[in-house]
Amino acid sequence: MSTAEVWSGRGPARALRAAVSERVAKLEDSGPLALHMILVGDDPSARGYARAVQRGCKRVGMQAVMEELPGNSSTVEVVDRVLALNADAGVHGILLGFPLAEQVDEAAIVAAIDPAKDVDRLTTAAVGELFGGHTAVGPATAAAVIELLDYYEEPIEGRRVVVVGRSNVVGKPLWAMLLARNATTTVCHSRTVDLPGVTSQAEILVAATGSPGLIGAEHVGSGAVVVDVGTTYQNGAVLGDVDFEAVASRARAVTPVPGGIGPITNYCLMRNLVELAERRGVSC
Ligand code: NAP
Repeated sequence: MSTAEVWSGRGPARALRAAVSERVAKLEDSGPLALHMILVGDDPSARGYARAVQRGCKRVGMQAVMEELPGNSSTVEVVDRVLALNADAGVHGILLGFPLAEQVDEAAIVAAIDPAKDVDRLTTAAVGELFGGHTAVGPATAAAVIELLDYYEEPIEGRRVVVVGRSNVVGKPLWAMLLARNATTTVCHSRTVDLPGVTSQAEILVAATGSPGLIGAEHVGSGAVVVDVGTTYQNGAVLGDVDFEAVASRARAVTPVPGGIGPITNYCLMRNLVELAERRGVSC
């Protein structure tokens, strides 16, 4: 029987949307804030994601351009396009739609983005900033986890947090953001020995693996908060990493999938764009 609270992402997403919209409105006199997305090829997930970002931008009063480059574009062609956007004062953020077409060199394209316009925080400079402890502009998914915990007033400082997943886009940046908030954080991965033994020690457990149902009751200590970042599309359903029913019988709170971290992530991305624009003095 479920005893845990369900921590939906809708409330935090609404609060964040209002806060971001307010900041966007304050910058209005300097002209519209604009995000420029580049897609290379016609991958449906990249396009679906870009459309969702476009809708989110509209809701907070930002412009969002989705530019689809031909699927046979070369790395040089894509890099040239990125350099042109870097130089365009009317573009405040640049976002690549992943996956890019496979013939292009992803690392070279990411490296071409001006870190001051890197809303996804993928460039080496952005990563350095994050790991240096400056977390105001963090990768959106990791930031969404922090946003959720803050919204539900779950203390982070001094807590034992376990993150399952060590990717550059979720697990590692989340570790850096939690450390900056003075949590004691362990990061697990596919080679972790005795995963349940480690995760069950957590006061806050975050699963970000893309392995549906990986986290069961045996992985969760009594009274823990469990945050499910996993988003796996299978037979028309969206599945999280957490076996929700099993975990809800032990945890104090669990996030659902869908409707947990997902709705918050988009607004974290938009907050990054505002933050970067403010840094560059768009409001002056
Ligand atoms: P990823 O790059 O594939 O990384 C997965 C990580 O999980 C790896 O570190 C891997 O370990 C670890 N892992 C996989 N299976 C495991 C297992 N059985 N036991 C322990 N660790 C395991 O994925 P990602 O990009 O970080 O994304 C993770 C999940 O979050 C995906 O479902 C993705 O769709 C979702 N996501 C959601 C949002 C959102 O807004 N909600 C945004 C981004 C991503 P190794 O390093 O050892 O291989």
